[in-house]
Amino acid sequence: MAYPKIHAQKQDRLPGLERELQPPAEFIRDSYKGSGKLAGKVALVSGGDSGIGRAAAVHFAREGADVAIMYLDEHQDAEDAKRMIEAEGQRCLLLPGDIRDSSYCKDAVEQTVKTLGQLDVLVNNAGRQEVQTRLEDITDEQWEKTFATNIHGYFYLTRAALRHLKAGASIINTTSINSFIGNPMLVDYTSTKGAIDGFTRALSQQLIERDIRVNQIAPGPIWTPLQPPSLGKHDPELLEDFGSQMPMGRCGQPSELGPAYVYLACEDSTYVSGQTIHINGGKVVNG
Ligand code: NAD
Ligand code: MG
Repeated sequence: MAYPKIHAQKQDRLPGLERELQPPAEFIRDSYKGSGKLAGKVALVSGGDSGIGRAAAVHFAREGADVAIMYLDEHQDAEDAKRMIEAEGQRCLLLPGDIRDSSYCKDAVEQTVKTLGQLDVLVNNAGRQEVQTRLEDITDEQWEKTFATNIHGYFYLTRAALRHLKAGASIINTTSINSFIGNPMLVDYTSTKGAIDGFTRALSQQLIERDIRVNQIAPGPIWTPLQPPSLGKHDPELLEDFGSQMPMGRCGQPSELGPAYVYLACEDSTYVSGQTIHINGGKVVNG
């Protein structure tokens, strides 16, 4: 693929909209052939309307899973994701709501099981980021909102899901390269991603005896609607160079992450738990 040049841009709403990204992102490659790795399975993906979550959802569908998608309020993006999943011949359930609300997380899990019959794979992926270059400029409200979305939501959803997850189930958390290398413009966000790393590792050890695996993916700069309302709002020109600091000199596409979610979701990874897959354009971060 020729990786398209990113234009200077910003968005004023949060979460950002996939439909407004220029150029549009790629979610799955035409060359990706499913082989039934998730046939008969059901996945629940938070933040699955757009970006990395949508890529995971569409890859799961190509591998034979039905998928329920949680998202805040980007209804058109969610409809687009649903169409893509249905085009793979799978069912898709849309579940809008605020992940900071524990009862919504519980309802989403129950709706998924009621409508799609079971739950085998949970992807904790919803997240928000806002740029502040000085710690003094992070308000209590921003700090708390970022934590409530990025880590409390993972806890609420996982706790609700556990009563339905059986031996062989998989939990996949989306963390970030930022918790491994730090990001001076995103101190609150980076802190939540560090919390996710701890959550993944501790929970993995707790759930081993139930034969439920817990792993995480640490993306580098990926072209999604997370960026125009945060980096782009801070300085639209920053997006022209988005990802240029990585060894590969470019940002990644969501399509470059989806196969890793499949790997962690399916039985290919039965001997893998508590681990991190780094998908970041070649930056060695360890950990
Ligand atoms: P995205 O905007 O497409 O996805 C984030 C999703 O989170 C949104 O679609 C939104 O529906 C959901 N969300 C946000 N606040 C919510 C709330 N209060 N309630 C319910 N849902 C809410 O962007 P993305 O980049 O695909 O982000 C997915 C994950 O990837 C996030 O956890 C993000 O931190 C992580 N990540 C992204 C990058 C990147 O460069 N894009 C890098 C590292 C990690
Ligand atoms: Mg979205």
